[in-house]
Amino acid sequence: MDGWWGWLNRPERKGHSGGGFTQMEQWLRSRRGLAESLGEWAFYAAVILIVLALIKLFPYHLFKKTHKWLALAYLVLVYHTLVLLNTEYWIQPIGWIMAVLLLSGTVSAFWVLTGRVGRQRKVQGVIKSLNAFPGVRVIEGSIHLEQGWEGHLPGQFAFVTSKNTEGAHPYTIASAWNPNDPSLTFIIKQLGDWTGQLEQWLSVDMPVTVEGPYGCFDFNDTLPRQIWVGAGIGITPFIAKMKHLAQCPGQQEIDLFHVTTDYDQAAINKLTADALAANVRLHITVTPKDGRLTPEKIRAIVPEWHTASLWFCGPTGLGDTLRTDFLTNGLTSNHYHQELFAMR
Ligand SMILES: Cc1cc2nc3c(=O)[nH]c(=O)nc-3n(C[C@H](O)[C@H](O)[C@H](O)COP(=O)(O)OP(=O)(O)OC[C@H]3O[C@@H](n4cnc5c(N)ncnc54)[C@H](O)[C@@H]3O)c2cc1C
Repeated sequence: MDGWWGWLNRPERKGHSGGGFTQMEQWLRSRRGLAESLGEWAFYAAVILIVLALIKLFPYHLFKKTHKWLALAYLVLVYHTLVLLNTEYWIQPIGWIMAVLLLSGTVSAFWVLTGRVGRQRKVQGVIKSLNAFPGVRVIEGSIHLEQGWEGHLPGQFAFVTSKNTEGAHPYTIASAWNPNDPSLTFIIKQLGDWTGQLEQWLSVDMPVTVEGPYGCFDFNDTLPRQIWVGAGIGITPFIAKMKHLAQCPGQQEIDLFHVTTDYDQAAINKLTADALAANVRLHITVTPKDGRLTPEKIRAIVPEWHTASLWFCGPTGLGDTLRTDFLTNGLTSNHYHQELFAMR
């Protein structure tokens, strides 16, 4: 029978010319029908799971579960391949390459299915302070870490779990690493289902799990200038870098543009103090009052922009506008860096 939906045609079964099958070949032949059927269904399942991963309307907490099932589909496809691959291939380079790929994929799939991903990067901690900034619907929390955190670079992020049934959420680490005071600060905007409840849920002395650090939004270049644009809660990696610069001053000229629709004087005061300590020029745009921040406004304030790299964190729309405009005006693409607060 051809593929159920006619998408996949089964390979022709060739008769064996010489007879005299090895036991292994006979066993493989006896499994062909099952392997073909399983392979076809695993292929359809993989397509559906990949499509679900790409559709942002599909809720994240469900995607987190269904995405793992891809590993299961992969294992079925490995079985399909092992049974159906021409046995002569195993003594040729193509077979050796296949063996390496199948083996490494299988190990990875077991790693995913047994929940080992990131396990070695998990550290326990306790919340030691919480501050609310109601004007911008933001809370700032500091976590004291137990042993195991090996440090992080400014701009990196971590997954934080404070309630097991909710699971881990990613947040940028908004503090510089100091091994003498092993703590991390996170600044979290109430944007959705979970972050909207955080202020009521979190309390000082609450145990949390932190997994990380991850990410490569690391401000690493040797240009004489950097332009930073942090829109809304996208300001967090820049706060981390300013804390770091206050400890270890750098040589670069830095202009930080912070765009916000909400306003909280206490939050702005903290940001201003961080910028001062880091020797960073801060330009604040409160959109309802000042209008939108445009690429032209940035270039007017930093006429030497063509000697700078641009680091952006915030909503995709503003990021794309800045990228397209600066690249059209001559900024090279490797001098534009973007961090989006989105996993897919
Ligand atoms: C690398 C990175 C760094 C981030 N840094 C910060 C930060 O410093 N401060 C801050 O306030 N926010 C940050 N975010 C965004 C923050 O993770 C989301 O706002 C939060 O997870 C949304 O959860 P929710 O249930 O409140 O929102 P929902 O309304 O339920 O979800 C909104 C969107 O958030 C994403 N999301 C939801 N749950 C998760 C999850 N468990 N893991 C990953 N994404 C999820 C999904 O794309 C979803 O569509 C960061 C995100 C990423 C990817």
